[in-house]
Amino acid sequence: MRVLVTGGAGFIGANTCRELVDRPEIGQVIALDDLSTGFAANLDDLPVRLVTGSILDRALLAELIDGVDAVIHLAARPSVPRSLADPVASHEANATGTLYLLEACRRAGTYLVAASSSSVYGSVAELPKHEDLATRPMSPYAASKLAAEAQVLAYHSAFGVPTLALRFFNVYGPMQSVGHAYAAVIPAFVDAALRGEPLTVHGDGAQSRDFTYVGTVAQVLADAVVHRITSTVPVNLAYGNRVSLLTLIGKLATLIGHPVEVEHTPARIGDVRESQADSTRLTALFPEVRPVPLDDGLAQTVRWYQGLFRYAEDATSEPVAETEPAHAV
Ligand code: NAD
Repeated sequence: MRVLVTGGAGFIGANTCRELVDRPEIGQVIALDDLSTGFAANLDDLPVRLVTGSILDRALLAELIDGVDAVIHLAARPSVPRSLADPVASHEANATGTLYLLEACRRAGTYLVAASSSSVYGSVAELPKHEDLATRPMSPYAASKLAAEAQVLAYHSAFGVPTLALRFFNVYGPMQSVGHAYAAVIPAFVDAALRGEPLTVHGDGAQSRDFTYVGTVAQVLADAVVHRITSTVPVNLAYGNRVSLLTLIGKLATLIGHPVEVEHTPARIGDVRESQADSTRLTALFPEVRPVPLDDGLAQTVRWYQGLFRYAEDATSEPVAETEPAHAV
């Protein structure tokens, strides 16, 4: 089986490529990435062909999709703040790019599993978030992911393209980029804690998230292509384990072995307050996946970041990055 992973040099993409090359059913893995936020170095040690290009290049898509049996679609501008700064660019990459990909899949009859996002629930207060709840996107990012998801489902219904739209919640783990203004919460916290710097919490810290370890996400995606799992309705990809940011910080402090300082700043526009998935559909479709528990995933994540930088042993001295890793921006 040959699989194309769009956004394959990114955080979830590179972890997914790693899972795919270990699967006996998968013969070839091709990553398509424009390297806007991904890094070629993430795939360095893997037998993966990296094509540097954009999902907005329709001729390239047609050529690549002709030669594969399945597509895992992860390429996107995956950030709420970046979408507030440039909503049109987010819509192009996230919604129009997905539509171009679906067109290529329609012509070739190719299976596609795509990353949607829990951000589509937006201001919906009800918990847990069941897929049948109304969607109320609070940012151009969320709106663009919802538009993309709607097309993924419409291509299934209208043209019979075998598709699956998975609403990822907060994914974390090795290779998630850090050191920039758009860093996700876990890498930002781990990096600050290891440097002995205060952790910045937007709002009071009581807001909750449903974190999924990236290895679990990669397992689900690999199972999806191997078993050609499709659905006419969106499916949450998270296991319903809600945790507040303050609880998360406590766990990190325990793992790192010293207390951490927290600085509160005002809550950000577009950020949702509570997040917890209803995982009934997911567990029915993927009964064999055993999600990595948060404590284990966090331990692996902390170890990975510790290996990335030589953090100062004395938290009060200057932090030192021994070698600047290719994928820390
Ligand atoms: P990431 O930034 O590491 O990965 C996105 C990849 O897409 C990058 O490698 C980037 O270079 C590439 N890319 C961007 N525009 C492209 C284009 N036009 N053509 C080709 N490649 C392009 O982010 P990630 O966290 O790995 O996100 C992967 C997917 O999962 C995205 O679709 C994102 O919306 C979705 N998602 C992620 C999370 C999370 O918690 N990380 C949550 C919900 C949804």
